[in-house]
Amino acid sequence: MTPSMSVTAALPPVVVFDLDGTLWNPEMYQLWGSGGAPFRHAGSSPTGHVVDKKGNKVDLIGDTREVLASLIPAVASGVTCLAVASTCDEPEWARELLHLFRITNTDSATHVPLMSLFKGPVAIYHAPSKVEHFTEIQELTGVPFHDMVFFDNQRNNIDAVSRLAVHCVYCPEGLTRHYWDQGVDMWTRGQASAPRGGHRARDTAATAAGSGRL
Ligand SMILES: [Mg+2]
Repeated sequence: MTPSMSVTAALPPVVVFDLDGTLWNPEMYQLWGSGGAPFRHAGSSPTGHVVDKKGNKVDLIGDTREVLASLIPAVASGVTCLAVASTCDEPEWARELLHLFRITNTDSATHVPLMSLFKGPVAIYHAPSKVEHFTEIQELTGVPFHDMVFFDNQRNNIDAVSRLAVHCVYCPEGLTRHYWDQGVDMWTRGQASAPRGGHRARDTAATAAGSGRL
């Protein structure tokens, strides 16, 4: 675990992930043509890949398992709030996968559903731009855009959301530790350069985690 992935390191109050091509592959539209839901675990490992009804493999990519596992304590304590901004073509399939994939909680030696890590909005729907998803996330969390970090594998989404002043990381190969560290560093530098109090990040994280609308 790198220092920036430590639970004691400062983390962005809200972290938002795309799904298709960022946390998992293939993209859901690629399963069209007798594939898709229902999905089931393949093999004996509870944290392994899954297959669709046609037998197509769907798996978490890059360092998604490692990065998200490292965030479990911070999510549980409200230090950071994870959310989803996705235009997935099959939202219900995506939600099924979020419940089916398991992430290992190394502290308790248990495997928790990926969905359980997303205490923030899980926004999965088509829209002209992911600006709509972020407007919803901002309204529901009360956290300003400049205290959010976003990971996405499509440049057009990165370009659109960057205009909101969200710290955006382009992840063409999916979420990796390198990209994660890059996102945290971008937010940290933003905190350092902004003329505001040192407790601001923690305050906004508490706002996100404590919102009754989440
Ligand atoms: Mg994507």
